[in-house]
Amino acid sequence: MGDARTAEIEHNLAVVRARVASACRAAGRAADEVTLVAVTKTYPAEDVTRLASLGVLDVGENRDQEAAPKASACPAELRWHFIGQLQRNKARSVASYASVVHSVDSLRLVDALTDAAVRAGRDTPLGALVQVSLDDDEHRGGAVTGIIEQVAESIAASPALTLKGVMAVAPLGWDPDAAFERLAAVSARLRISFPDADWISAGMSDDLESAISHGSTHVRVGSALLGNRPPLG
Ligand SMILES: *Cc1c(COP(=O)(O)O)cnc(C)c1O
Repeated sequence: MGDARTAEIEHNLAVVRARVASACRAAGRAADEVTLVAVTKTYPAEDVTRLASLGVLDVGENRDQEAAPKASACPAELRWHFIGQLQRNKARSVASYASVVHSVDSLRLVDALTDAAVRAGRDTPLGALVQVSLDDDEHRGGAVTGIIEQVAESIAASPALTLKGVMAVAPLGWDPDAAFERLAAVSARLRISFPDADWISAGMSDDLESAISHGSTHVRVGSALLGNRPPLG
């Protein structure tokens, strides 16, 4: 697609890749330690296809109603990352197209995803990350202290899921360095029991440098790639 929108996304992608590379250099990390997940919510399937043509094969969505039709309209080689709050009654749908769910924060959701992944007859287990609440606010999504380990153990024991690691969003008004430092500590603790669960999904358009300095392996970047979404998008 040699159109103006593709050129715009290509430019934004170069800027984001340069930011990731420079943050990795500053942290003494290799640039290929960090995977860019392009968050495509509110943007059309055509933009996802443009990203794929530019080599971005990891895409993130936060609503099943939007992601399911988009996934079926896009190239099959894409890996769909589900990053939003997930209702248990949507687990079946998400398990049919997602490679990994970043937002697993309750035992009931682990059970629903296990059931869904079994029924979907997947070739590979569904990846799952424990979403961590960094401020222990139970109302905003994410598992609070004490629940994190239980959710991780339950994912690890699931026949249809693979425990990949942890995910968090820096709480509003927090210094991102403090938030991501806390997440790194949670990850280190989890890896004592589950050494392969080494993903740290952290960092968005505004705070990816801080996240990478604290060990992020997957940055989830939307607006810096595709433009500002309308409010509440
Ligand atoms: C929307 C969203 C992002 C991307 O945010 P940007 O600021 O647009 O980069 C990352 N993570 C989650 C969980 C999101 O909902």
